[in-house]
Amino acid sequence: MTKSNFLLINRKPQVLEEVIPGEKGLIFLGKDRHILDHGVLVMDSGVRACLYCDDVRNLTFLVDRPGAYGIETLIFAAKEKYEKVRDTIKKDYPKLEMSPQNKKLNRYAERLMEKLKDGQEVRIVDAVRAEDVIICPECGVQCAPGGQYCMECGAELPQK
Ligand SMILES: [Zn+2]
Repeated sequence: MTKSNFLLINRKPQVLEEVIPGEKGLIFLGKDRHILDHGVLVMDSGVRACLYCDDVRNLTFLVDRPGAYGIETLIFAAKEKYEKVRDTIKKDYPKLEMSPQNKKLNRYAERLMEKLKDGQEVRIVDAVRAEDVIICPECGVQCAPGGQYCMECGAELPQK
């Protein structure tokens, strides 16, 4: 039996068969090629960024749209499929901020989403390797090592 791909919208999983890139955004299809529940992601300014992790084949969109705040995640079983979708998104939506992350990207995405919901501006820090960043103990934002204070909230950072 082959493993499934998944679409998770605010943690609710659905089995994903296909991702179709359209002019305005992505369409997520399930079995029998029906569109999944909330399976259309309009790729306008309401999508704040896409975090991705090659290690866990995860693409996570931060949706910052009034009335539809949330996190949409694609998880792929196969590397080839993951890379194809990742590269298509990079190519087709050049205005979208794409940020490489490590395995902790879900936790980071939730922290960022809390800030977006509060109407705060967020700066997304690329963090491919966990040892390359320090997580702020107060606000959860990833900071470059070497700094003494968090850029976001000013809390003192633990030193490595
Ligand atoms: Zn902080």
